[in-house]
Amino acid sequence: MVAPRLLVIALIALMLTSLAPAVAAQEGPTMGDGEPVETTEFGFEPLEWVFEQLHVALAESIRAIHKIDKAQRRAAKRDERRADLPAPARIVRSGPRSSGAVALTFDDGYNAEACARIANTLRRNDAKGTFFINGNYLKAEPAKWKRILAGMPVGNHTRSHHDLTGEPHPVVIKQIRENEALHERILGRPMLKVLRPPYGAYGERVRRIAAQLGYDRIALWSVDTHDWKPTTSARAIVRRATGARPGSVILMHCARNATARALPSIIRHYRARGIELAGLGKVLGS
Ligand SMILES: [Zn+2]
Repeated sequence: MVAPRLLVIALIALMLTSLAPAVAAQEGPTMGDGEPVETTEFGFEPLEWVFEQLHVALAESIRAIHKIDKAQRRAAKRDERRADLPAPARIVRSGPRSSGAVALTFDDGYNAEACARIANTLRRNDAKGTFFINGNYLKAEPAKWKRILAGMPVGNHTRSHHDLTGEPHPVVIKQIRENEALHERILGRPMLKVLRPPYGAYGERVRRIAAQLGYDRIALWSVDTHDWKPTTSARAIVRRATGARPGSVILMHCARNATARALPSIIRHYRARGIELAGLGKVLGS
């Protein structure tokens, strides 16, 4: 919109310039020393007005050019980053039926006591669950979490449970990397290389960053027990968790005692049907 405006100003300027000789020819009032006073019949200085308008228009066009430039630079940077990033990590929600096993997964960790009960029940029954605990909890009570998670596979649920889709590139990297480093330092063993993004929220950018960090899979779930909700009873958790088939990935949380209370019945259900409760790695296959 800047170019047409400049054109209009230029046309007005041309018009005024052609009027200027006529204005100058007019007999104007004089000052004491006989010099003519510089006023015109327009009541203002036309050339000054033209310069002012030109100045404003030019400043605007410079600002607009800068804006375009900035947007282009940002887009180029984004493309550059994308070009550097590998193909996006795969989204997986379940494994093949042929696995003959179901994966129980437990996220978050804001109730360590419930989590300890869950892990103990699994160990007592020679079953496995996969734990996605946020690094912040591990850092706060490392010895406790080392005991809770002994012998259980752990996956990456980020350091502090941010929605990764809303975080800038370096923060996404930090959230994944720091959590992995914390787990490996405290537990003294490698993590399962699967990322479960908080809230199950991901986009292409998160998938590409995950792949860049060595996570070729983003592991979601096929059965949601809604066990984190205060209104979900242990009975409802059992009902939802036992509706799975071999290959299913069941989402639960280290959040409430109701989950711990539901677990023995869930284990019994699958045992009775000859279905193993295995780690996520085994259920998803490699
Ligand atoms: Zn979570």
